[in-house]
Amino acid sequence: MTLRKLQGIGASTGIAIARAHRLASAEPVIEKASKPGTEEELARFAAAVHLAGIQVRELMALTAEKLGEAEAKIFEAHLLVLDDPELLGSVRELIVAQGATAEYALREVAREITASFEALNTEYLRERAGDIRDVTQRIMAVLSGAVTGSQPIEQAVIIVAHDLTPSDTVQLNREYVKGFTTEMGGITSHSAIMARSMEIPAVVGMADALQEVRHNDLLILDGEAGELLVNPPAGIVAEYEAKLLEAERRKENRALLAAQPTISLDGHRIELAGNIGSPGDVAAVLRHGGEGIGLFRTEFLYMGREELPSEEEQFMAYRSVLEQMEGKPVVVRTIDVGGDKELPCLELPKEDNPFLGFRAIRLCLETPEQVLFRTQLRALLRAGVYGNLKIMFPMIATLEELRRAKSILAEEKLKLEQAGIPAGTPISVGMMVEIPAAAVMADLFAPEVDFFSIGTNDLIQYTMAADRMNSRVSYLYQPYNPAVLRLIKQVIDAAHRQGKWAGMCGEMAGSLAAIPLLLGLGLDEFSMSAPSILAARDSIRQLSHKEMEELARRALSLGSAEEVKALLEQADGWSAGLQAAAPQVP
Ligand code: PEP
Ligand code: MG
Repeated sequence: MTLRKLQGIGASTGIAIARAHRLASAEPVIEKASKPGTEEELARFAAAVHLAGIQVRELMALTAEKLGEAEAKIFEAHLLVLDDPELLGSVRELIVAQGATAEYALREVAREITASFEALNTEYLRERAGDIRDVTQRIMAVLSGAVTGSQPIEQAVIIVAHDLTPSDTVQLNREYVKGFTTEMGGITSHSAIMARSMEIPAVVGMADALQEVRHNDLLILDGEAGELLVNPPAGIVAEYEAKLLEAERRKENRALLAAQPTISLDGHRIELAGNIGSPGDVAAVLRHGGEGIGLFRTEFLYMGREELPSEEEQFMAYRSVLEQMEGKPVVVRTIDVGGDKELPCLELPKEDNPFLGFRAIRLCLETPEQVLFRTQLRALLRAGVYGNLKIMFPMIATLEELRRAKSILAEEKLKLEQAGIPAGTPISVGMMVEIPAAAVMADLFAPEVDFFSIGTNDLIQYTMAADRMNSRVSYLYQPYNPAVLRLIKQVIDAAHRQGKWAGMCGEMAGSLAAIPLLLGLGLDEFSMSAPSILAARDSIRQLSHKEMEELARRALSLGSAEEVKALLEQADGWSAGLQAAAPQVP
């Protein structure tokens, strides 16, 4: 076996050493016409059905051993489908009649049969439709050379996939999934962000990973260097095992800072908070010494499901976060869907430019009677009784949007009061600054909000016109571009002039390389994924606020991102922090 090293974008630090587990993409691209010809296509199909049968039998045996015979029987129905003359015959006919690929013929026939079962509307037949779908996916996966997502993972693995949706990511079994790599995505794609909060090492934008890696290959994934080593020799494995141990030791040392305040050498106090996607993430923020929640991305409550979450369900989720934080500040952002965050339960039409499209506050304000928005606001107001809640609106571009959002919030509050339902008061209201228009106008927004939180993930992409998901333009995704830094400075100054605070919840806030500069720019609150908090505290406690102010002044006068980075590297005292493990903004 020869060592192969593949390069992607390091998205979540840490090292993983495990076997490869290839995942089939949920929606494979299917060609209609078979290129090799009908005979080959029929043979491919027969071989795939045969292999799928072997997989199902293996799964049956495993289930019988682990769970019992009764559970294993579920797979008998799958074997029946694999033997079903109607299904197999129809697929073969379509391959022959239309010169179609096996994938195309299988998908068409399976769709027709499942639709007819579902229409009959009895429980038994609906279950059969489910069996057919499951088996079809399995055959499809065999045809594409991948392993189906439904196949249980029983050992430590590194997932190799074309892409992982946020809901795929959230469902990863942390016990066995030691890391993942995807062909798609950038450092701020949501699966990357989630990997950081789940503390799973990840490398994204790994072009051709599925071509280069076979199922069960031995892999080393280095989430910091963005590297994937395929079938490394024993010597290299030992080297990485040592690095893993060292990282564990460093983590233990930093853990001692969990109960310490975040104060610079010259006594300037900062708040370090955590970004979360669900109530289950709060424990990690507290464990890592978070002083608050700076961003609760509530859209994850809506994802990967068929129906919208009810007001009650949301209320329970928000209440749980507030109660766990025991009076510490919790910034909850109202739903931000669109972009790379699709929502099956809303069935939003596909857009050519989703990052510039109908999303976040735009969608909330424009859907009929703002049902989605009002339901969420009611749940939030009711939960506000249980802690220190701050509500934040995403993607605000105009004063008009902010005013409308605030007035809907006031209306819902009044309605609750009139109905005698307790609502939290006072609740501070803030906005994300992630659209350059809002940053430029920050002095006019500041009097109308209680706080700003700068969303650099979007602010950088909109300022530089570089899609944050597109690895081909990632060279333009420049957090240190003075244009971005000047906008950040403008927002912070505008907040301070009005006696308000300014935080940051984009990924830049958790980057050890950026922290000295952000401290010097005057940022009051830094919100990041839980595992970055202690390293950030460690760094800030070794910095002088005054000196960093001078550093920031110099950075703002420079002409390019490269010059700013060079300045940061030259500066003394904190440069050691640049090398330490933490999410690196490219
Ligand atoms: C941001 O844009 O920086 C941000 C925090 O929002 P999201 O990453 O959810 O778009
Ligand atoms: Mg954003």
